[in-house]
Amino acid sequence: MQSRRGDDTSYLPSEPALRVIMRRLREIMAESGDGQLRLNKIVRLIAGVMVAEVCSIYLKRQDGSLELFATEGLKQEAVHNTRMKRGEGLVGRCAEFNVTINESEASSHPSFSYRPETGEEIFHSLLAVPVQRSGQVLGVLVIQNRTVKEYSDDDVEVMQTTAMVVAEQLVSGAVAGAGTALEVSKSLSAVIEGEGISEGIALGRVVLHEPRIVVTQLMSDDPAAELARIDTAMSELRASLDDMLDHEHLAAAGEHRDVLEAYRMFANDKGWHRRLREAVEGGLTAEAAVERVQNGTRARMHRQSDPIWRERQRDMDDLSDRLMRILAGRSGIVDPANLPPDAILVARTLGTAELLDYDRSKLRGLVVEDGSSQSHVAIVAKALGIAAVGQALGVVDRVNAGDAIIVDAVGGEVHLRPSPEMVAAYSDKVRFRAKRQKQYEALRDVQAVTRDGERIALFMNAGLLVDMPHLAESGADGIGLFRTELQFMLSQTLPRLERQLQTYRAVVAEAGDKPVVFRALDIGGDKVLPYLRQAKEENPAIGWRAIRMSLDRPALFRTQVRAFLRASAGRELSIMIPMVSQAAEMTAIRALIDKEHELMKKRGFEAPTRVKVGAMLEVPALLFQLDALMPKVDFISVGSNDLLQFLFAADRTNAQVASRYDSLSIAPLRALKELVKAGKKYKVPVTLCGEMAGRPLEAMALIGLGFRSISMAPASIGPVKTMILSLDAKKMEKFLAERLKNPDCELRPALARFAEENEVEV
Ligand code: PEP
Ligand code: MG
Repeated sequence: MQSRRGDDTSYLPSEPALRVIMRRLREIMAESGDGQLRLNKIVRLIAGVMVAEVCSIYLKRQDGSLELFATEGLKQEAVHNTRMKRGEGLVGRCAEFNVTINESEASSHPSFSYRPETGEEIFHSLLAVPVQRSGQVLGVLVIQNRTVKEYSDDDVEVMQTTAMVVAEQLVSGAVAGAGTALEVSKSLSAVIEGEGISEGIALGRVVLHEPRIVVTQLMSDDPAAELARIDTAMSELRASLDDMLDHEHLAAAGEHRDVLEAYRMFANDKGWHRRLREAVEGGLTAEAAVERVQNGTRARMHRQSDPIWRERQRDMDDLSDRLMRILAGRSGIVDPANLPPDAILVARTLGTAELLDYDRSKLRGLVVEDGSSQSHVAIVAKALGIAAVGQALGVVDRVNAGDAIIVDAVGGEVHLRPSPEMVAAYSDKVRFRAKRQKQYEALRDVQAVTRDGERIALFMNAGLLVDMPHLAESGADGIGLFRTELQFMLSQTLPRLERQLQTYRAVVAEAGDKPVVFRALDIGGDKVLPYLRQAKEENPAIGWRAIRMSLDRPALFRTQVRAFLRASAGRELSIMIPMVSQAAEMTAIRALIDKEHELMKKRGFEAPTRVKVGAMLEVPALLFQLDALMPKVDFISVGSNDLLQFLFAADRTNAQVASRYDSLSIAPLRALKELVKAGKKYKVPVTLCGEMAGRPLEAMALIGLGFRSISMAPASIGPVKTMILSLDAKKMEKFLAERLKNPDCELRPALARFAEENEVEV
């Protein structure tokens, strides 16, 4: 073959070889004959053009094994007889890890698997490339030679491109026969382990958040026209990124900007553009070229162990997806309002606002490749009652839109294309959960009183108007935390007074007699407002956020307070202040609230009957100023999500560290106990509204610490109430007090044992 070795930044494909293969492949597809015949012709063609003694195609079977489907050069008796177990031999490795294998001395490689029936021991060098489509391996294309040689980058490029075309033909059913790769690939079940980031189990169909465009036409008849398409799409892509970067709001928005800058750099990478053009000149359509080059880049980056390269791969993937959407002439994004009735949203990453764009009445589940249980997208998923699994690595590349999928947020698993047995088992689980839900509903009007007569107030967390019906459904005693920033995060522009007022009025009206605690804007950390200029911060969670913003730039806060006050005319208003770190801040913030209160009375507006101002206890420093803090507040609510992340110095949005500590361990429980004690001393009500309040075992411990009021996601009210009804609070208090004296006590197992021995339903 005519071969040209590329420079070290790109591999220039051997044009003639690739073009010959493309042309001949097109002819083979047009000829009559069955799929097997076509496969036979394909291997003969490749062996000829690549000057290889052997060319073989192995296809994956349902059990993951590989079967030799066609060969030129090996013994024909081996066809349909030679099978490789999953991961066996070099060919198995190629399929298992989706990597190209280029070995000059294959038979001496430790993974080499000798098959006498093929007669392959006389071949030394081997080049195996995965036959894959949309990230799913369907089989392996192999060439072998007698001589000891390493195949050139050009050879690799030609083989990879050919494998891509073969994959397309396999899926379309044009090659091989019935019962082969097509059915196999479409019916492959898989399980992806992740982390449950909300509650529940959902069965449904995949909706890709930003779906990959499936390339249907791979070979072009008019390379010049395709080249023009690639060039135009590239210009459009660059212009769209420039536009985004120049956009005033985004221009200042920290991480967005970095990401876009990186995109812009990659989009302007001449090597990328050149590789795309070369692929088109080799006979591919523009879309196929994008996919081809994307696969090549992935394969190269896959070999790098440095995580920076994996990040770059993600950027390149996103960029390729964008280019593909431009070529396809559509945004490629599903109309969020027009979902199938059992939609399971699958995304690499998803913002809170993006999630809320989807029609929640049809959304059953969510799977993301990042996300931890305390991230805001998880909190919103919980509020919407959607089963969600995070950390499902690689899921986007392994599913097609419309695939059957099961999201198990309880076990932290995602089942792709599940077997009928799996569907039946999960349907049973769903039915069982629904039955239990009915039992919880029956408890709706039952008060949460422990066996020894302690009444526990159970409040609900909310953040949107759509959450409000849960108040009646769950039987919660009121709203213990209304996260006002969600409305701000959803809006394209800053919500002005009137819009805020409308929302808060509606919340208050829906709550009826039940109290509502409004939390003042908590912006910063993972809560970003795209329209608000914020300087880039190294550590936004401990940066200029929440009360710090309110005190430095009071205009936003005062407008919000005005809306709270007017929405609460004639009733009691509770305002909760997030991220307080010094007692004196409460004096300053109360002065701002009082000023608005006075102003409204002066202007003749009907005022609330009482305004209570409370602090969220989220910053550990506050624990050591309780004497100063208590007289300045009407109530305290522990934001345990933040308190724990700061107490343990473990980023709540980073799953790798978020699970390193246990909320039921000595440090946080001792801290909370001191807080409850101080609350009693100063007669200041103390409650807790972080995620731990919604977990029955944790809630049991909180009651043991003396909490008599907690706030949680509405779905947790039933399970927590069930626990309370079976608990003896005094006994728990005594048990926990003893354990807390012992610094080495493993609290979680001890508490679980207590629950078991005392028949507490946790
Ligand atoms: C918390 O930190 O526990 C809390 C309730 O607030 P958020 O989760 O909104 O930060
Ligand atoms: Mg918080």
